[in-house]
Amino acid sequence: MKIAIGSDHGGFEMKETLKGFLEARGVQTRDLGCFSKNSVDYPDIAAAVAGQVSDGQVDQGILVCTTGIGMSIVANKFPRVRAALCVTPRMAKMARAHNNANVLALGGELISIEDAKAIVSEWLKGKFDQSGRHQRRVNKIQQYACNTVDPLNVYDTDPDLYAVLRNENRRQSENLELIASENYVSRAVREATGSLLTNKYAEGYPAKRWYDGCQYVDDAERLAIERAKQLFGAEHANVQPHCGSSANLAVYLTVLQPGDTFLAMEPAHGGHLTHGLKANISGRLFVARHYGVSRDNEQINYDEVAELAKQHRPKLIVAGASAYSRIIDFKRFRKIADSTGALLMVDMAHIAGLVAAGCHPSPVPYAEFVTTTTHKTLRGPRGGMILCRRRFAHDIDHQIFPGLQGGPFMHVIAAKAVCLHQALQPDFKSYQERIIRNAQALAEALKAGGLRLVSGGTDNHLILVDLSTLDITGKEAATTLDQAGITVNKNMIPFDTKSPQTTSGIRIGTPAVTSRGMKEPEMKQIAGWILQVLRQCKDNTALADVRKLVLAFTDRFPLP
Ligand code: PLP
Repeated sequence: MKIAIGSDHGGFEMKETLKGFLEARGVQTRDLGCFSKNSVDYPDIAAAVAGQVSDGQVDQGILVCTTGIGMSIVANKFPRVRAALCVTPRMAKMARAHNNANVLALGGELISIEDAKAIVSEWLKGKFDQSGRHQRRVNKIQQYACNTVDPLNVYDTDPDLYAVLRNENRRQSENLELIASENYVSRAVREATGSLLTNKYAEGYPAKRWYDGCQYVDDAERLAIERAKQLFGAEHANVQPHCGSSANLAVYLTVLQPGDTFLAMEPAHGGHLTHGLKANISGRLFVARHYGVSRDNEQINYDEVAELAKQHRPKLIVAGASAYSRIIDFKRFRKIADSTGALLMVDMAHIAGLVAAGCHPSPVPYAEFVTTTTHKTLRGPRGGMILCRRRFAHDIDHQIFPGLQGGPFMHVIAAKAVCLHQALQPDFKSYQERIIRNAQALAEALKAGGLRLVSGGTDNHLILVDLSTLDITGKEAATTLDQAGITVNKNMIPFDTKSPQTTSGIRIGTPAVTSRGMKEPEMKQIAGWILQVLRQCKDNTALADVRKLVLAFTDRFPLP
C-alpha cells in the first residue's frame, strides 16, 4: 500500500507523527509537504496529494490542515477522488466501507495525536463493502462528478455565450430529440472533442506532416484509422473529412472531371443534397442523374437504376440516402455498376452504426468507396470519414489534403477514435438493435393511430410520415411538435406536391432517444403524444399539457 501524505503548517506536526506511525505498519508513504511550520497555501498541498491519488500513482492519500475542511474541499475537486474528513474512528471505518473514500482528511487542531492514530488505524483496516448498494451509490458519485457540463471558464469570460450553452443544455435535456440524423455522444467522445488536441496543427498524415510536434496526434489518427478499418473491414480509411459533405466531394473529385455524369438518389425521394442537388457543388460541377423510389411500394426502383445507368453511362453510381427507411440492396447496386462499367460509392452516413453492428448489410464488400458521417447512428463527433479500396487510397488522401482541406481537426479525430473503439464493443450491437426495435415500435404505434408511413414502415432507425391526409404540412407539424417538446424535422415525401420549405412529411428517428435509454414502451408513449399534437395542433392548452408530460418524462432519462 502506498499513501501520499501532505499537510499545511497547521497540520505539520501531526503529519510528521503519522508518517512514522504508517511506516511502522508497513505502509509506504510519499511526503508531498509541507516541510516546516512556515505558512503555506493548503490548496497546493491538497492538490499535490489528490492529483497522485487521481492519477493512480498512489493508492490513497492523507491530508492534515487545521480543521481538515479546506483540504478535503480541494481534494474532492479531483476526478476519482473521494475525500472524507473524519473526526472519529467510526467515521473512518464508514468512509472506507460505504463510500470507498480514498483520501483521509484530518484536522490538526480538532483532534489529538492519539485520536489521529486511532482514526488512521481504523482507516487502514477498513475495506470497501462492494455489495450492491454501496457500489451503486459510489458509481453515482462518479456519475454526478462527470456531470460538469457547466463550462466554468466560459462562465467567467463570456456570460453571453455561457447563457447559450446553458440554454442548449436545458433544451437537449428537456426535449425528446427525434431528428433522425442526431444523437447524444458518450461522455468519452465529448471529452475528446473538447480536449486540447484542438490546439494542434497537423497538415498531412501520420508520420508525413507539414508541422512538427505531431507524435501524439499521429497516435490518435492511427488509432482512428486502424479501428475504422477493423470495424468495417475496409482496406483503407481516411478519418480527416470535416463533414460528410466533404467526404462525398472528395470521392467525386477523385473519380470525376467537371461535366462528368454520376447517378444518385433523387434528393426529393430521400437522397442528400450532396447527391447532385443543383444548388450544391455536386450538382454544379457534375451532371447528376437521379433515380427514385417506385410509386407503388415507395422503395428504391432498382430496375429504374439499371435503366438510367444503361442510358446515361455514369462514371459513378451513388447509393445511400438521408430519408429512406428500408434496407438498401448494395449487391444489386454492384451488379448494376458492373453492367455499365461504373464505380460504386455508398454514402452510409445515416446507417453507419447499423452497418458497424451488423444490423444492416455492409456496403464495404461491394463498393469502391464508402463515405459516412460519424455523428449519426455511429454516435461519434460531428465529422466525416471515407473508406475505400487500397488502389484509391493515395488519391483519396490527396484529395482530402491538400485538395479540399488544410489542418485536420485532431480533437475530432481523437473523438472519432473513441467512438470507433466504442463501436467495436459487444454492447454497441445491442444499442443498434434497440434503435431499430424502437423505430419499429414507434412506427407501429403511429400507424395504429392512423398515420400513413412512407413505404409502410421501417427496417432501420427512421420513419418518414406522410401527413397529406391530415390538414397539416410538414413545416407546421415540426413547429408544433417542437412547441410540445418533441423535435423532428419537416421532410419531403416521394412525389411530394409541396415545396421543400413546406413539405407533406416529417422524418422521425430513434438514435438519440435510444441513447437516453428509452425502449419500446416509451416509444408507444411518444407516439401517443405525437398523435395528440398532430390532431390538436391549434389547441394551445393541449400543446401545453403535452409539454408538461414530456418534461416530466425526459427528467427520467438523463443525458448520457
Ligand atoms: N450524406 C448523407 C446521406 C447525409 O444524410 C448527410 C447529412 O445529413 C451528409 C451526407 C452530409 O453530412 P454533413 O452534414 O456532415 O456534411
